[in-house]
Amino acid sequence: MIQYSLKCAEGHTFDSWFQSAEAFDKLAAAGMVSCAVCGGTKVEKAIMAPRVRPARSATGVKDDAQPTTEAPTAPALSTQNAELEQALTEMRRQVEQNSDYVGEDFASEARAMHLGDAPERSIYGEAKPDEAKALIEDGIPVAPLPFMPNRKTN
Ligand SMILES: [Zn+2]
Repeated sequence: MIQYSLKCAEGHTFDSWFQSAEAFDKLAAAGMVSCAVCGGTKVEKAIMAPRVRPARSATGVKDDAQPTTEAPTAPALSTQNAELEQALTEMRRQVEQNSDYVGEDFASEARAMHLGDAPERSIYGEAKPDEAKALIEDGIPVAPLPFMPNRKTN
């Protein structure tokens, strides 16, 4: 395994492990190496001194398919958090604008829509883990939000 420090066109730096130098070249040429921050696929090696670690013991598991991204180093972190924060804020704005907040009724509302007992619309709210699990098991499409919704007080 070889670890490369990579840099995207936006200047984000991150580390990723690859099976070999050839594997990196192939993945990069195929646009399959993407920036950990912005997802951009214009990625190049930032440092030409790869560290090498011994291959993991033979478990029969191929681990070269997906490059693993390691935690970015400290200096870049604040920028990355700011960008993440911004993306989350934007996502939250869109959800709150385009969906109805149903609070703790989320599970029953989602189920009612699925059964045709309620008009189809976008909703968001809060579901207990077992409620969410039951919804998914019944084939009702739900997705976790990466933020806690504001409880509307009206
Ligand atoms: Zn980037």
